[in-house]
Amino acid sequence: MKNKITTIAFDADDTLWANESYFQEAEKQFCLLLENYLPQHTVSQELFATEMKNLHLYGYGIKGFMLCMIETANRISENTVPIEIINQIIAIGHELLQKPVELLPGVTETLTQLKGNYRLVVATKGDLLDQERKLKNSGLEDYFHHIEIMSDKKEKDYRKLLKHLDCTPDHFMMLGNSLKSDILPVLELGGFGVHIPYHVTWTHEQHEVNLEHERFIALQKVDEILGHLG
Ligand SMILES: [Mg+2]
Repeated sequence: MKNKITTIAFDADDTLWANESYFQEAEKQFCLLLENYLPQHTVSQELFATEMKNLHLYGYGIKGFMLCMIETANRISENTVPIEIINQIIAIGHELLQKPVELLPGVTETLTQLKGNYRLVVATKGDLLDQERKLKNSGLEDYFHHIEIMSDKKEKDYRKLLKHLDCTPDHFMMLGNSLKSDILPVLELGGFGVHIPYHVTWTHEQHEVNLEHERFIALQKVDEILGHLG
């Protein structure tokens, strides 16, 4: 079955390079800034509630995250938060937008092995400019035939991607760290899904499930895929 695969798509954040750990660090700084108003873990819950409320308006990415931090600070301080704290929140966001791109172990080796034998694609959510920056700084651009920055990763979004790639689901494999966004919609569609967990997962992407499926593969590290492709 797997020898039918022609196109392999990679999620970017927490699959090709580190991301969620940077967000969690930023969130910790934010919660510390506001601990005079509420305990840190409550600030964190409030921020998550703001993010979920605004997701349909902002989509995924750092800019939306910055606006959500500011909105949360205003709400929990009842609009009394000093402008210095707002400036510090903006600084946290700017710092996130300039983080170095740290490739995950095995990524370059895997792409080098696969390039030439498969059509390689990046399929990621996030802010357009930020994802383009990371891709450029990653040095991985040349491995990929196509880069798709998606507003969401539901079944219909993958269907659109496959149409664009002129690829049928049975020839398509997607690798990623999120069962919810990278694997389940692709399996649903008839493609192959390969899960490689990252050590931290954003609450919104968490999905507790013991997945068993004939087109599903669970790995610990990305280069293990080489042994499955033959
Ligand atoms: Mg990811």
